Order: sequence, then structure tokens, then C-alpha cells
Amino acid sequence: MTNVDPLELAKFDEHAHHWWDPTSEFRPLHEINPLRLSWIESHVTLAGKRVLDVGCGGGILSEGMAQRGAKVTGIDLSAAALDVAKLHLLESGLSVDYRLESAEDHAEAHPGAYEVVTCMELLEHVPDPESIVAACAATLAPGGWAFFATINRTPKAYLHAILGAEYLLRLLPRGTHDFGKFIRPAELARWARSHGLEPVALKGLGYNPLTKTYRLIDETAVNYLLAARKAT
Ligand code: SAH
Repeated sequence: MTNVDPLELAKFDEHAHHWWDPTSEFRPLHEINPLRLSWIESHVTLAGKRVLDVGCGGGILSEGMAQRGAKVTGIDLSAAALDVAKLHLLESGLSVDYRLESAEDHAEAHPGAYEVVTCMELLEHVPDPESIVAACAATLAPGGWAFFATINRTPKAYLHAILGAEYLLRLLPRGTHDFGKFIRPAELARWARSHGLEPVALKGLGYNPLTKTYRLIDETAVNYLLAARKAT
């Protein structure tokens, strides 16, 4: 198990018990969830699909997809986050198969097993994001869809995602993000292509600090989403 930063995992372990508190540092994940779910469903219907959620954490996205009828497997390397995710199923009554496993190991054991793979807000926390993209591609069946979300490496992203979110608005704890690990859309698209995924759609995620609402926008300078499809 090499493609993991233990300091990153420790941060998620430490805060995991707040995961389902919508006023906690996980609030942005709660707030963007309806938006990202409807964006996924603008490309593919989730009901009945075999879905892998890579870096699922406490399960906000996994549960949303299960709610829409997908058969979801969620993997993460934070044991504390997975414990919270499993406990929350008792509350929601939903069913998700949660496993403490790396994307690379899961891909090796389950090649071509999924119709949809999601990997959101994870790539900017790992030492080798391309290896995660490759693993996501490998788990997909032909024609399968991959949905990535991460943060662009631009001055504007530094201002918004780090200075704004961590220091001014205090939406996130300081040190949540490391500018050097942010990823340009062209880099993500290149990794996708080199592992057999064809980029289909790119959208930005806009935050309005006055209304405290998120929406999908065309500008991708800060948070963005990439949809890509495996050849049929
Ligand atoms: N995808 C979820 C959670 C994002 S938070 C969502 O968008 O709602 C980032 C998650 O990535 C955390 O749960 C953290 O434990 C996990 N993570 C960090 N490094 C990882 C790695 N190398 N492999 C798998 N998961 C990792």
C-alpha cells in the first residue's frame, strides 16, 4: 500500500465523527451532493447500476447514489470514516458495501466489474493521483462512466479553496488542502485518456459566499467535475 499519504488519512480519521453533521467541516460535501448527483444522472441513470465510489469517506455520495437505486461499493483507507459510513446505514436504512481497500487493490481484484465509478474530492489528497485514475478505469466495464471531482491548480483556486475556504470563511480546517497537489483539468483529462477513458464533459463548481449556495458553471478555475467514458 504505497499510494497514500498517512498525514492526509490522519486528518480524515480525526474528523470522521463529524461526517454527517451538516454544519461541520463536511458541510460543503453535504451542500454539493444534490448538484453532483444530478450532474452524474445527466449522463447516466444510476438505478440498477453497479457503482464503485473511490475515497467514499463517511458515505455522503455513496448513500446518495444508493438512494437513487444504484448498487454501491464504497472504498476508502480511513477506517474511522468507514466506521461512520457503516453506522450511518442504520440510520438511513440504505445498503452500501463498504470496504477498507485501496483503489489499486480493488481494481486488481475486480477488473471491469462496474458500470459507473465515482472519485470525488480524493485525487488532491493522494501522492500519485494518476494511479487512482488508472485504477478507476480498470474497474470499469466497456462503456462505463467515470466521474471525477477535484480542484484546479490556479491562483484563483489558491485564493478561493485555501485562503477563502480555510482562512476567511473557515468552511474547512486549515491545512485541508495543499496547493501543490491541485490538478489542472488538462492533466486529469490526459491521465484519463492514457488509461482508456475519453473525457466527455467538464464543469466548474461555483460557490456564492453571500447566498452560500453552489451551482454548476462553465468556469473550471477552482472546483471542477470531469465525466469520462470507457470505450464500448
Ligand atoms: N468522496 C467523498 C469523500 C471525500 S473526502 C465525498 O466526496 O463525499 C476524501 C476522502 O479520501 C477521505 O475519506 C479520505 O479518507 C480518503 N482518502 C485519502 N487518501 C486516500 C487514499 N490514498 N485512498 C483512498 N482513500 C483516500
